[in-house]
Amino acid sequence: MSFANLHDDIGNDLFDHKEQLNRLDEFHYPRFKEGTMKFSAIVCCFSGTESWQDMQECIVYANDCIHSSKHFSFNNDKDIQVFIAVEGMCGIKEDVTNKIQWLYNHNVRLGSLCWNDDNALACGARTNNKPLTDLGVEAIQAMNHIGIAIDTSHCCEWNFYDIAKTSTKPIIASHSNVKALYNHYRNLSDLQLDIIRNKQGLVGGIPVRWFVKNKKENATLDDFIEILEYLKEKIGIEHIALGFDFMDYIPGMEDSNVVGMKDITEIQNIALKLKKNEFTDEEINAICFNNAYSFMQNYL
Ligand SMILES: [Zn+2]
Repeated sequence: MSFANLHDDIGNDLFDHKEQLNRLDEFHYPRFKEGTMKFSAIVCCFSGTESWQDMQECIVYANDCIHSSKHFSFNNDKDIQVFIAVEGMCGIKEDVTNKIQWLYNHNVRLGSLCWNDDNALACGARTNNKPLTDLGVEAIQAMNHIGIAIDTSHCCEWNFYDIAKTSTKPIIASHSNVKALYNHYRNLSDLQLDIIRNKQGLVGGIPVRWFVKNKKENATLDDFIEILEYLKEKIGIEHIALGFDFMDYIPGMEDSNVVGMKDITEIQNIALKLKKNEFTDEEINAICFNNAYSFMQNYL
């Protein structure tokens, strides 16, 4: 089974390991290969303190790494197809539309306005609950117009409804789970799920254990499958994808994933478990690969 991933902070990982010139091909590629990950977001995450110049440096570096890779490409001409995603736009405080255009010109095809921070555009769910700013509205309109898909995974609920109201295009929650199963600020309420479905969007389920269950409870792959079952019932197979947010390659975060899927090399376990839980091959392919791949094709 091939997989597609809506969220992986590899952009930051590459930027933080500049001394390893071929890290994308030498470290990440063998892992992708083993897991049969064929399509992925290369995320550059900005947590709230970064300037516009900081954002540009990280995004340009990620572009350079992909352009010089033997295995990864922005097109369909190598083993693994990727696009850049931006998580948080704290560096954008003015000149919004031109900066969104710059992001597009540097292969950004998915973006969220904030991480957990409260910035000039939007506010993260961990921090507060307030309306989208005027600059945030301008950013959403520019993303719609220029062709960058909108990710609502980190924003607060009030921002979420404002974004849903403003955006003329579908919205994605690239790496969020279900509030009805675990009440975490990053998970989605049933109303939010309905809105994503009604706007023809996607929810990327995230098998990082502390978004599945309370951290102390050691969530398992079976617990994560329950989330996918809930989403199937609630919004339908066609709106489900995966946003893995692998952190196991960050020192100290090796056990971030649910028990039963330790890292990208074991993602086939998701397909096997879905099969055991009576998902059809077509449904498994839709969740694991096709929904995310088809959605993003409209932007590539
Ligand atoms: Zn995130």
